[in-house]
Amino acid sequence: MSEMIHQPGLLLVVSSPSGAGKTTLCHRLLSEFRDTVIFSVSYTTRTMRKGEEDGVDYHFVDDETFDKMVARGEFAEWAEVHGRRYGTTGAAVQRALDEGRDVLFDIDYQGGRQIKARFGPLAVLVFVLPPSFEELERRLRLRATDAPEMIEQRLAKAREELEHYAFYDFLLVNDNLSEAYDGLRSIYFAAAHRIQRRYERAEALIRAARAGTRKP
Ligand code: ADP
Ligand code: 5GP
Repeated sequence: MSEMIHQPGLLLVVSSPSGAGKTTLCHRLLSEFRDTVIFSVSYTTRTMRKGEEDGVDYHFVDDETFDKMVARGEFAEWAEVHGRRYGTTGAAVQRALDEGRDVLFDIDYQGGRQIKARFGPLAVLVFVLPPSFEELERRLRLRATDAPEMIEQRLAKAREELEHYAFYDFLLVNDNLSEAYDGLRSIYFAAAHRIQRRYERAEALIRAARAGTRKP
């Protein structure tokens, strides 16, 4: 029975082709819900970009360290993206769940699939689409964080990523940013109010109602 009334943390996975705006949307959600949502900081073998911070945006590690972590089974999921490896540790997810926190993941479709397989209904998967492929390309070029050949690689991966939308639970089009953010916020709210996560409240009310019932 105790599992029935336990209120587990929500695992909110946000994926999109690179440039569709998931990082922007995730940052907004994190700043609005800083007390309840924590960001899952992934491990990656890619190099740090300007403005990024080790331990905040990613844990930046070398290939050898990543290999060891894979061999020790430390990852809840990991995948190769743009020729680099990215992964989420099981320990970090478990810690957040134990604290009853909700966890936000900015990971690709391969990771989304693994999180869903591992955590089932605790995971809610949101896929963000750009309004058009031309706009995606424009945003990637405007962002100017990558070398031109890297942008080509990201566009190729974007085409691949788009093909995997169908196993996600929710689809958002990020055309107007504030509308897309309202969408993400609503999904988070709805998922957080799922009945599986609200047993505690209902059971407490039932207990109180029963305690107050007078026998004739
Ligand atoms: P991702 O994390 O999916 O790669 P980002 O959040 O980095 O994407 O967004 C890519 C670029 O597009 C950034 O420069 C960001 O400021 C911009 N951007 C995000 N959402 C919108 C939007 N709705 N309209 C216009 N530009 C946007
Ligand atoms: P970037 O290099 O632009 O930060 O991220 C590239 C891609 O890797 C994005 O699609 C991002 O969602 C994905 N990614 C980041 N961290 C992880 C992770 O831990 N696991 C998986 N599977 N993908 C990740």
